[in-house]
Amino acid sequence: MAIYDLKCEDCGWEFEEFKTGFLTEDDKKCPQCQSENVKQVYSGSFGIGSSCFGGYGGGGFT
Ligand SMILES: [Zn+2]
Repeated sequence: MAIYDLKCEDCGWEFEEFKTGFLTEDDKKCPQCQSENVKQVYSGSFGIGSSCFGGYGGGGFT
């Protein structure tokens, strides 16, 4: 299980998705304005399961 932080580029709404798998395009939809212009943001709050993001290795941490 992972928590994805998402942000709507249109209205600036930030929200979280709790998923057992990967995000789908369907999940990337703003609950506030229904925009699909939603970006995944990487805050420092997720420490669990970081090894699942092998493709981002080395780039996601400061
Ligand atoms: Zn929005």
